[in-house]
Parts: sequence; C-alpha cells; structure tokens
Amino acid sequence: MGTISHAFTSLSRHSRHWIQRGADRHLRLAVTGLSGAGKTAFITGLVHQLTSDKCGQQLPLWQVCRSQRLIGVRREMQPDLDIASFDYQGALASLNREPPAWPASTRNISELRLAIKYRPVQGLVAKVTESATLYLDIIDYPGEWLLDLPMLKLDFGQWCRQQSLRAEVFAHSPAYAPFIDALKDVPLEQTADELQLQQVAALYQTLLTDLVRNQGFYLAQPGRMLLPGDLDGTPLLTFFPVLSMDMNTFSKLEQAPRDSAYQVLKTRYQEYVNKVVKPFYRHHFAHFDRQIVLVDCLSALNRGRPQFDDMTSALSEVLESFQFGKSPLLRRLFAPRIDKLLIAASKADHVTLDQQGNLLHLLGDVLKQSRHAAHFEGCQVETMAISAIRATDAGSVTHEGQAKQVIQGYELQSDQLLTLFPGDVPRTLPKADFWQQQGFDFTAFRPKDSAGDGLQHLRLDHLLEFMLGDKMR
Ligand code: GDP
Repeated sequence: MGTISHAFTSLSRHSRHWIQRGADRHLRLAVTGLSGAGKTAFITGLVHQLTSDKCGQQLPLWQVCRSQRLIGVRREMQPDLDIASFDYQGALASLNREPPAWPASTRNISELRLAIKYRPVQGLVAKVTESATLYLDIIDYPGEWLLDLPMLKLDFGQWCRQQSLRAEVFAHSPAYAPFIDALKDVPLEQTADELQLQQVAALYQTLLTDLVRNQGFYLAQPGRMLLPGDLDGTPLLTFFPVLSMDMNTFSKLEQAPRDSAYQVLKTRYQEYVNKVVKPFYRHHFAHFDRQIVLVDCLSALNRGRPQFDDMTSALSEVLESFQFGKSPLLRRLFAPRIDKLLIAASKADHVTLDQQGNLLHLLGDVLKQSRHAAHFEGCQVETMAISAIRATDAGSVTHEGQAKQVIQGYELQSDQLLTLFPGDVPRTLPKADFWQQQGFDFTAFRPKDSAGDGLQHLRLDHLLEFMLGDKMR
C-alpha cells in the first residue's frame, strides 16, 4: 500500500492532470412528468438547494454533503446550443415576488448544466487529486411527449381504432360533439380539402386541450397538440383520428387515391411519427443517463375517479419508454442507456407528515396497475414522496384532547394563511362508491416567502443520494 501511495505522490503534474480529467464525470439527468406534475418547481428547487451555501443543513441525507466533501456547485454554459436554457433566474424571480408566485410551467424541452465539485474518497482518483467535478446536465421535458411512444408501433388505421376506445373520456368535453360533427362531414375517400382538414384538426386540438386543461384528464395523442411550440400550424400537426369506423370501411379507405383526405391524414400521421416522435427519442431520450418522473397523485384525487384512472393509464404509457430492456423496438431505434429511474410523488407538502407514507403507498398502487411496472431490466427503480419547494409548515394542534398533525400555508387563490388538516390520503385507490359519496379536496398553496431561510424542501437530499450518490464517491 505504502509503495503504491509513494508511486502516486511522485506522479508528474502532467499525469495528475490527466487522472484529474478522468475523474470528472458527466451525467444527463432528465426530469419529466405530465403537465402540472411539478417539473419547473422541481428543477428550480433542486438547483436552489445545490447552489445554496447551506447544503450541510439543507441536504443532510446526501452523503457528499454530510461528510463535508462538497466543495461547491456553480452553473456552467449548457452543452447543447439547440436546446432552450431552463429559465432558472425567471423562476427564482417569481418565487421572490411579493407575494411569491409559482414559476411558469414547462412547455418545451430545456436544460441547464451544473458543475459539482467535490472531494472523492474512493479509488485511484482520491489518492491523486484533491477534487473531482461532476458535470450534471438537467433536462426538463413534457411527459406528454412520452405518450406518443405507442404511435411508433401503430399504423394510422390502428391508431384511429385505439383512439375510438377513448370515446367515453372524450365525451366529458363539450368540444367532443363539434369535432365529431365536423369529422362526419369530411369525405374521406375524396380529394382532400386542406382548409377543411385544418378546421377539423383545430377542433381535435381544442378537444384534447379542453380535456387536459379543463376536464382534468391526462392522456392526449398526439402529445404535441397540447404544447405544439414551433410545430403550431404546420401540416405535421394537421391531422386527427378517424373515429368509430368499422373494419370494412377502413379496408376501403386504405384503397382510396393518394390525394384523398384519408390518405393525406395517413401520410401526415406517419410524418409526425418520423419527424417528431422518433427524433425526440433519437436526439434526446437516447442520451439520458438517469430519469426522474414526477407524479402529482393529489391533484388527480381532487379531480375524480375517471381522471385518476386516466392518470394511471397515462403513467403506464409513460413508463413504457423505460422498458427498453424488454423492447427490441426501443433498443434497435435508440439504444437507450438510462440506468436509474426515480418515480416521485410530488407536492408531498400538501399533506401532513403522517400521511406521506400513504401517499407513497398510493403511488406504488398506481404503478402496480401499470402493465409495464414489473419489467424494468437493467434499470434500478425507486419511488419517493417529495416536495421540491415546500409551501407549507408542519405543526400539530390539540383537538378534543388529542394531538393532531396539521399544515399551515397561504392558500393559492385567496392568499389567506390557513392552518388545516388536509384529510387522509388513501393508501390504495378507493372503490367507485367512495368517490360518489365524497371526493378529495387537497388545498393548493402559494409558495412561502423565502427571503429569510431560502427555499425549503422535502427529501431532495434522499433523492440526490439515489440519483448522484454512486457518481460522487
Ligand atoms: P410542470 O407543468 O410539470 O412544469 O409543473 P410546475 O412545476 O409548473 O407545477 C405546477 C404547479 O404545482 C405549481 O404552479 C404549483 O402550484 C404546484 N407545485 C409544484 N411543486 C410543488 C411543491 O413542491 N409544493 C407545492 N405545495 N406545490 C407545488
């Protein structure tokens, strides 16, 4: 041992430099979740905790912090010039407003890079160098984009038939009838009328948007119709499913001329798959090392049983992207390499501490219903209940001689300070009659004033240990 250390001490500066370079690591950590799951708040809270000088107090369960090996974290230029920067400063500005406000939600893919400098303790590197750096790229993208994965396996006709099965959900929206009426008027086997296709596609987009934004549902295909970004108004998004057709009609439409409305829709669908869905997997997903999926179970409970079921299905679709161990299609197309997946119940500060175990159990119950949950091969999976930016304080009150846990925070709508017991979180999904008798009503809070102590969180240290611990030994 002594001889080896001696050998290291006498290494030239040049060799040390190269060992040091070798010690530096890169990690691409992707964050996703369906709209409103808490991605923007999560990244803002995480970056705030990492760059704050109170890491020892704020992140005690993160080994590198606890053992005082963290030297410093700073933001660096992001590596990809074609991806928007995550607007951390803008998010902080909202949180520092008077009264504080939540930052604007994720609408597109964005990223930021952190350089995390630490003292290594293991291996050759620890003997030779004082410090190493982990370059952490955090990538934020809408979970809706993962909902498009099944489209890779379906042709247009199959996709239409699958969308027809969603008629019951579509019917929750007042925008369903206008879409169906307009669809009936499209002569599918005749020459396409571009204006008509645009109008019907716009009605389909209104239907999906209403379902998700106003009726509280989650599944929407194509996912980019909700957040089209620079695809807005392009022919790539000017298509819609043909619903409620029998197999005979489909077979006839398959033979329709190339310029017919049906064939034009079919071509656009395929173009969407080739030019939007596949490139996302190839250019982004394939380069993620680790993934966090945020799930807001509490808002889904508030919305009701059909919506909660829809979230469960949507999550199941989202998880399919991480089944690459079992999916020759994904492996062949994108060679994904994610080795750790964290599925986190977000906004755990909405409930009292004694209910957070139930929240985690409920998330486990939701995942069990996913047909994909059992097959993560080569990928370590963990679940947690977290809050990236705590909007409430935990406390207790005595009620009829009994101590009861409560939370306190400013209600989002009224900005009134409330102290309340937000109710029990069910450990498993309640049966249908429960939803009829009583629903759930978890209160939303605005962020706390962070001027004094900085932002607070729940279990981000635990999360960092799972996600980065092994890379910083
Ligand atoms: P995104 O669409 O996934 O980017 O979701 P956001 O990060 O914008 O979060 C949506 C909303 O959820 C926010 O505006 C907040 O109202 C709420 N929220 C997000 N994270 C937290 C949290 O940790 N605690 C609380 N109480 N609310 C949160």
